Amino acid sequence: MKKAASAHDPRVQAILAGLAAAYPNAECALLHRSAWELLVATILSAQCTDARVNVVTPPLFRKYPTVADFAALTPELLEPEIRSTGFYRNKAKSIVGAARRLQEVYRGQVPADMDALVTLPGVARKTANVVLGVWFHQAAGVVVDTHVQRIARRLDLTREEQPEKIERDLMRLLPQSEWIAFGHRVIAHGRQCCLARSPRCPACPIEPLCTAADKTVGRQAKPTVGPKPRSAPKAAAGRRPRSSR
Ligand code: SF4
Repeated sequence: MKKAASAHDPRVQAILAGLAAAYPNAECALLHRSAWELLVATILSAQCTDARVNVVTPPLFRKYPTVADFAALTPELLEPEIRSTGFYRNKAKSIVGAARRLQEVYRGQVPADMDALVTLPGVARKTANVVLGVWFHQAAGVVVDTHVQRIARRLDLTREEQPEKIERDLMRLLPQSEWIAFGHRVIAHGRQCCLARSPRCPACPIEPLCTAADKTVGRQAKPTVGPKPRSAPKAAAGRRPRSSR
């Protein structure tokens, strides 16, 4: 049986270094001016592009500048404002519900705490990790969106399919000091190079380290260090990315 990779695995170190060199300035693309705005933007970004969210949020926050303004809404009133981001009924419920809970329990402030954040309607670990990492600079976990999910599996950093289990593997494997940057860089890599359907492997900065069976170059090549190539996950090979987070 193959040994599990560790944080000291030279291949893991090389992947981190390669991503850092390729995407040194990768950061969250969602426009925001506060933890609350980032929370709302992240909820809206599910199954939607950041570009679309960035069109919707500036007028939204001009109209409703505070958490209290959102808490005073009904989901039905918010729905037309966010309709173009998709799944707007559920998103409206989540945003109004989160605003009300923040008003009732946290004096209108977004808590810098994972356990508290995940009690807000519509907020799971991914959204909480975005808010904690980007706004509070707190590495509580690793953001696992559709890009991270796909690429962590292609790179054999995990063999899990569920985001929570993938995150657990990544937290075990990566130094905590890398957790926030890793998410940003892998998302950038997923958008620019490691696409879901046709990854641009000839241009990939970490191609020699990649063990994915659906690589579009060097299918016979073995990684310089690390585990044997393995079969590509079906879900990763055939799905179009729909969300950036
Ligand atoms: S070699 Fe291809 S599949 Fe592997 S990480 Fe790079 S772009 Fe993705």
